[in-house]
Order: sequence, then C-alpha cells, then structure tokens
Amino acid sequence: MTNTVPKILIVGGGYAGFYTAWKLEKHLRKGEADVTIVDPLPYMTYQPFLPEVAAGSIEARHSVVALRRHLKRTRVVAAKVTGINHANKVATITPIVGDPYEFEYDQIVVTAGAVSRTFPIPGIADNAIGLKTIEEAVAIRDKLMSNFDKASVLPPGPERDRLLTVVVVGGGFAGIEVFAELRSLASSLVKSYPELTFDDTHFHLIEAMGRIMPEVSLKTSEWVLKNLAQRGASVHLDTQVTGAVDGNVELSTGEVIPTDLIIWTAGVMANPTVVRGGDLPVEERGRIRTRTDLRVGTEEEFVEGAWAAGDVSAVPDLSGGGVGGYCVPNAQHAVRQAKLLAKNLVAVLRGELPREYFHKNLGAVAGLGVGVGVFQSGKLALKGPIAWLAHRGYHGLAMPSWERKWRVLLGWWNNFWLGRDLVNLSTVQSPRYVFEEFAARPRPAQPAVTPPAVPREQGKKADQPEQVEADKKVAAGR
Ligand SMILES: Cc1cc2nc3c(=O)[nH]c(=O)nc-3n(C[C@H](O)[C@H](O)[C@H](O)COP(=O)(O)OP(=O)(O)OC[C@H]3O[C@@H](n4cnc5c(N)ncnc54)[C@H](O)[C@@H]3O)c2cc1C
Repeated sequence: MTNTVPKILIVGGGYAGFYTAWKLEKHLRKGEADVTIVDPLPYMTYQPFLPEVAAGSIEARHSVVALRRHLKRTRVVAAKVTGINHANKVATITPIVGDPYEFEYDQIVVTAGAVSRTFPIPGIADNAIGLKTIEEAVAIRDKLMSNFDKASVLPPGPERDRLLTVVVVGGGFAGIEVFAELRSLASSLVKSYPELTFDDTHFHLIEAMGRIMPEVSLKTSEWVLKNLAQRGASVHLDTQVTGAVDGNVELSTGEVIPTDLIIWTAGVMANPTVVRGGDLPVEERGRIRTRTDLRVGTEEEFVEGAWAAGDVSAVPDLSGGGVGGYCVPNAQHAVRQAKLLAKNLVAVLRGELPREYFHKNLGAVAGLGVGVGVFQSGKLALKGPIAWLAHRGYHGLAMPSWERKWRVLLGWWNNFWLGRDLVNLSTVQSPRYVFEEFAARPRPAQPAVTPPAVPREQGKKADQPEQVEADKKVAAGR
C-alpha cells in the first residue's frame, strides 16, 4: 500500500467495536494509524438495559451511545461490511445508501457481534420478535402498552385474553429478565386501567431445559421460579415451542397459548453476514477462531493483521470457566477483550509483543422488575431488593461514558419519585397519520367539456345556469 500510515478497519460499533475504537484513540499517537469504524447504526447499544427499556424503566435513547459524539479521532461510516477478503486485505463496504465499494486496510478488527438464533419452527420467523436491538425493546414496550389500550375497550373474552398474554421463549438471562420486567410493567399498567384486573394478564415462559438461568446456581434459579410464580407468571420447563401461527403458540406438551406478543430469546449465533462473507478461519460453532492475544488464528499460528473480540469470536477462556473452553458471549468479556485488543494492536504496530487475555467471571446479576433481582458470584447469592440495587449499581456504572451514565442514573432517580414512564409511542411507526388525515389536497382537475347546444324544448337541463350560458353563446354566434 502507498499510504505509510496503517489503516485500521473496525467491523461493528457495538460493545467490543466501540471500546476498541475508544481505547485506540487513547493509545495511538497522533498520525500513528487511521482508524475507521463501520456500523449501519450510529450508536452502540448497551444490551443489558434492553429488558428495562422494554419495561419502560429506562428511556430508549439513554441506553445507546452515539458513536460520533465519543469517537473524535475515528472515521465513522454508516454501512455494513458485507465481505472480507483478508488474503488481499480488502473489505466490501455496503453503505446505508449508495453502491458497495472496496476498502483497503492493513489491520482488521472484527467485532460484528451476534444475532438471535432461531429454529425453523412454523410462524416464528414471521410472528416473533427478538431482543438484541433497541428497536426490538421499544417495539415490545409499545406493543404491550397498546395491547392494554385495545383490551380496555373490549369485553372480557378470548380476544381480550390474547392481547393481554405474553409468551417469552428461552429461560436464559435475557429471557428471564425481559419476562420478569414485563410482568412488573403489566402489574404497574393494570393500576391505570379500571377496566382490567391483574388476573386478566397472562405470562408464560417456555424453556426446553429442566432449569432456567444456567449462569446462577440451581438454588438461586429455583428462587427465581418461585418469585415469578408468586407474581402470577408461569414458567414451562422441559417444553418446546412447536408452532407460532395465527396468534397461537403451540407447545410440545400439546398446550396452545393464544397470544399477540411472542418474544424469542432462545440463543444467539455469531453474525453470519460477516463470518460467512469472509475468508477468516471459523470454528465449529460459527465463530471466528481467535487466539488468547485476540489475533485471529490458532495458538500455533496467527493470521497477520486480523483481530476479533466479543460475541462474534471464539476466544479461549484461560480461567477455565468458559463453555467448551471458550469465553461465553457476554458484555463482561466483550469490553475487557476490546480494551486489551486495542493495547495489543498498538503494541504489534510498534513491534512489541501482545498480551494474553485472562478474565475470571465476576458473577452474574439480573434485574427482575422494580425491586427484585438476583446476584450470584461463586457461592455468594443475593436475592430480592439488595440484588436489584446491585444490578442497577453495576450496570449504571458499567454504561460507557459519564455523559450516558448520568442520563441513565438520573432517569432512575426521576422514576423513583415520579413513577415509571407509562407512555406508549407506538404511533411513531406512522407519524404522518394526523397530518395526512386533515391535510388539504389540490382538487383533481375537471375535464374541460363544452356542453352541446340543446334545444329548450328537449328538457329542463336547459334551465340550469351553465346551460343558459352555453345557449347565450350559441345565440350570440348566430
Ligand atoms: C437482553 C440482553 C441482556 C444482556 N445482559 C447482559 C448482562 O447482564 N451482562 C453481560 O455481561 N452481558 C449481557 N448481555 C450480552 C452482551 O450485551 C453482549 O455479549 C455484548 O453486547 C456483545 O458485544 P459485541 O460488541 O460482541 O456485539 P454487539 O454489542 O451486538 O455489537 C455488534 C455491532 O456490530 C454491528 N454490525 C452487525 N453486522 C454488521 C456488519 N455486517 N457490518 C458492520 N457492523 C455490523 C451491529 O450493528 C452492532 O452495533 C445481554 C445481551 C442481551 C441481548
């Protein structure tokens, strides 16, 4: 390449990509490298807040971080990377508008994350919604709230029950959190609808395994099940969804649950566009094979100029705690890997040796609705309000940048005094509806027709003003 300043391309500005760029800005000297980050979205999403966004406890925009505001020395490109030809160090960039183009780089950092992993169950692709993006969290919030509005004007019966039934598929952390948060939201909403009662709302979580939340001990997970049951939410263990067609969720037990809201949280998979669209090595589970120093490759051999971190990568877990020997896909790893990746990349550019990634799991903390949470670190387990405070304390401070932390923390403070914000904004999906209804439109042009002269005795029409005018013209022409 002619340019002597190395070009670094970061694929994905989510948790790992944003932190990599942020830390590169800190570690790189002026003019030491050009950094470009490519993401179709202008923000990174703090995904651990999605369940609280869905529950109306966090304002949606507060749980994302604007890339351009915080990345001052990085070029931000609104596009997807749709191909990686690392043999030639060229990536295909498909902008959000315009034609795809080729981008030459010296170092590539792949941090394109994961997407919801589904199975070919009839109806799921068309009728369910995932929980990986802020758009999904907002849509879930608005759907539940607008269903309350609809149900409030219907008489008791099957249609009203369907609108007030929520089904969550997957009993991992994300599934249980959103399930419990929505239960909490529904209990709050009921107080504002005199037409509806708590017993009109129905919550079902479907889990294929015999337990929920594998990240916490069995005892703690059983406490969560008990807590959910006390709050009127049913968990179906050892059960699979077999269909989701025509507003009915069918279960392997033969049960059918009519519902208008199906949330799919049963697993994630490494971003297929980036993994399959490139020539970087991929392991059995579809993730980019990554070394402990975060370079792509195996421990024996690395791929020069290629790095990966976060959910898209399979990084060996040196602490021995990972699943199948690899780091589990979570934010704890994504942020720490990104920080080390930035340091290692700079070290390699300077001809120094990279360091190995080592992180021992800190434990898990989950919010289960206002005032309820669980925390587990080794044998230590906290449950109820203390764990909920730990959840808010940990995530409030883990949100990147003080600018964002303050928005979230002050939002919680406001909710403490003012109650959660129960506004449903589903109509933003059709923002022109009022304008359009009353907008003045030009009248359709009338075809210019000259009426034929009709003798008076042929009919009354001749007495109409237009006809009289026409008659006068005809008479004048005689
Ligand atoms: C509901 C929920 C709750 C969670 N709770 C916790 C928790 O409590 N604790 C915890 O540790 N972890 C939690 N996680 C997991 C954690 O959020 C993820 O592990 C983390 O976000 C992974 O970071 P990442 O950078 O790898 O991927 P992401 O943050 O998903 O970022 C990927 C980025 O790549 C972009 N992208 C996608 N395709 C392309 C492309 N073709 N080209 C360019 N860019 C692309 C995306 O737009 C996105 O910005 C939770 C996840 C969810 C969904």
